Amino acid sequence: MKTRIVLIDDHKLFREGIKRILDFEQDFEVVAEGSDGNEALALVEQYKPDVVIMDINMPHVNGVEATRQLIEAYPDTKVIILSIHDDESYVMHALQTGAMGYLLKEMDADALIEAVRVVAEGGSYLHPKVTHNLVKEYRRLVAEEGLGKEKQNQNQDVCRPYHLLTRRECEVLQLLADGKSNKGIADALYISEKTVKNHVSNILQKLNVNDRTQAVVVAIKNGWVEVK
Ligand SMILES: [Mg+2]
Repeated sequence: MKTRIVLIDDHKLFREGIKRILDFEQDFEVVAEGSDGNEALALVEQYKPDVVIMDINMPHVNGVEATRQLIEAYPDTKVIILSIHDDESYVMHALQTGAMGYLLKEMDADALIEAVRVVAEGGSYLHPKVTHNLVKEYRRLVAEEGLGKEKQNQNQDVCRPYHLLTRRECEVLQLLADGKSNKGIADALYISEKTVKNHVSNILQKLNVNDRTQAVVVAIKNGWVEVK
């Protein structure tokens, strides 16, 4: 039985390189290729692959969002994320979606092949650099949790750990959820309205949404904010 793979990356040349490496293995078969998150969902529905290799940075629906939707619809699908980012916030965000692997594009062919084998068998595989940064982040979070307990400030911890948002952005997001205007947020946090606007635009960008209402909906859905 071959491991059936769907390959998603918006760079055709990179995709072809990966396909060539994988097809060279007797027990692998790349059954379909796509170039954005929407195609990923359609291809998985059509081909029911064992493993999906998913680029993070893609137009339209990005790899993290596609993985989230994909695993929600097909919980047995094993996703390996492909990324150029090794910092822990990206990795944790990606793993939160249910992805079983995280590879850096600087990997060599052997790492790719090993990752597919391990993940296909139900394990998980992280690029060594990623593992190192995750361990560091884990230590930081444990230390922070200790401090957080002292401060009795759990609200911020709900928002931050698995997300790309900074603490300040989480505070702004909570105030948005409370229905506050820019002026109201500025007053509550003792910052200028211009700074609030900057925070809001960063939040929208990071959450990949168009307006503050959508941002609040996403935050409530994921339990990042407290609904009062
Ligand atoms: Mg890309």
